[in-house]
Amino acid sequence: MLPYVLSLDIGTTSTKAIAFTQDNQIMAQYSLGYPILHPQPNFSEQNPTEIWQAVGEGIRKIQKDTQKIGNLQAISFSAAMHSLICVDKKGKPLTNCIIWADNRSAEIAEKLKKTPIGQQIYAQTGAPIHPMLPLCKLLWLKEQEPEIFAQTQLFIGMKEYIFYQLTGNYLVDYSLASATGLFDNQTFAWSKLALDLIGINESRLPPLVPIFHYELSKPEWTEGLGIPENTPLVIGGSDGGLANLGAGATKQGRLALTIGTSGAARTCVSKPLIDKQMRTFCYALSQDLFILGGGMNNGGIVIDWLQKILLRDSEKPVNPLIISELAQDIAIGSDGLLFLPYLLGERAPWYDANAKGVFFGVQIQHTPAHFARAVLEGITLAMYSIGESIVENGQNIEVIYASGGFAHSKFWVQIVADVFGIKVILNESVEASAWGAALVAWQALGIIEDFGQTGDFAANVEVFEPNWANHQVYQSIFKKFTRLYQVLKPEF
Ligand code: ADP
Repeated sequence: MLPYVLSLDIGTTSTKAIAFTQDNQIMAQYSLGYPILHPQPNFSEQNPTEIWQAVGEGIRKIQKDTQKIGNLQAISFSAAMHSLICVDKKGKPLTNCIIWADNRSAEIAEKLKKTPIGQQIYAQTGAPIHPMLPLCKLLWLKEQEPEIFAQTQLFIGMKEYIFYQLTGNYLVDYSLASATGLFDNQTFAWSKLALDLIGINESRLPPLVPIFHYELSKPEWTEGLGIPENTPLVIGGSDGGLANLGAGATKQGRLALTIGTSGAARTCVSKPLIDKQMRTFCYALSQDLFILGGGMNNGGIVIDWLQKILLRDSEKPVNPLIISELAQDIAIGSDGLLFLPYLLGERAPWYDANAKGVFFGVQIQHTPAHFARAVLEGITLAMYSIGESIVENGQNIEVIYASGGFAHSKFWVQIVADVFGIKVILNESVEASAWGAALVAWQALGIIEDFGQTGDFAANVEVFEPNWANHQVYQSIFKKFTRLYQVLKPEF
């Protein structure tokens, strides 16, 4: 019987349940989907019960598949950042789960960002002031839903809700707490500054624990899930932080680049680092490891849009590979067609909710294939602008570890290598966050000793070297890309 860890990566579109052996072999995996709800414009929510059902199903399915071949060592968690659920005294949710994409607090965030207190909160928490943050969502709730705000016993996130269902304890790990805008990165406690601004004390937030913290399963809480009694339930961390860990990008000089539905670029630093222009986040993973980077709204979702809308393929199921196949025949730079990918506004590095998508330089000879290539290049250039803000904060990038759905397209990964002018490595598993959660569990169990060495457990499968001539071309296109955004900004 092979020992394995069951990772539950609670994402925006699905929960991925994956059984990993210690040498990164996948014994079984499932993806269990659920919808995003938009009850009003600018609102993005999910039903916590649906997510809990998906998690439960994932646990049961994996246990069934591995019954005869595996020996469950621990269950470990990864989850999307910035979510907020209000629960009452009895643990009943008073709201849906308000997720990272929710924009209802845009005005509040915009005002706060410009105040000295907003700047101080960013400096203390490492979280750029933005409507994604539970900090801004709580200010909105207090103003717009005072009754719910008053009735709420505890403000929690999605993973805290799930962990409670399995253990009866409300706890939050440092890495997810660090992405709320309420957590002091220096003292590893809730930020008095942020809490005073909202007008709450820390009794209304869950207690803080390291990502390695675990509780032993008790039958009264895990009934019907088939989890053996006393199985360690490791709290784990945020999907962003764990993706760095899982991709092997925890050492200096390594950048983890993820493009899934959305995207992010992150590197690790040993102490909190703040950007003068508030472009980068710096979230804790552990007391001596912080994730510095930026998140983008417009990743693979733009590819899916292009195929459905522009290429008039709405009848067929989305197959993002088609875009790469089309684009391959077009020269670098898409014969002058340039694309700003800001269909959903943008987070890093601009934090501009009003930004829009733009095709620039359209000419009579441009074909759908040009549009396909321009979109791949545009998303990559937007990612490069995040990379640039990381480098401008004194971080040297020597190698990029790629993960997320985009990594299925080798053509696109090569564009990333060329735009950045840096070698890109693909790991064996593109499920970096889930594998990161498994690594946390192995360390919590004492099987891996040094958290910092965990990168060496990821097996590299493919290396993409940059083409220098292409890099030079992209350097000049990038200048135009940035200028174009700056010029159009007042018009958005
Ligand atoms: P999530 O962010 O929800 O975890 P994934 O990491 O699975 O999702 O990424 C999904 C995205 O990956 C989709 O939006 C899709 O456009 C993109 N994608 C998947 N396969 C390919 C491919 N072969 N070429 C380009 N993009 C792809």
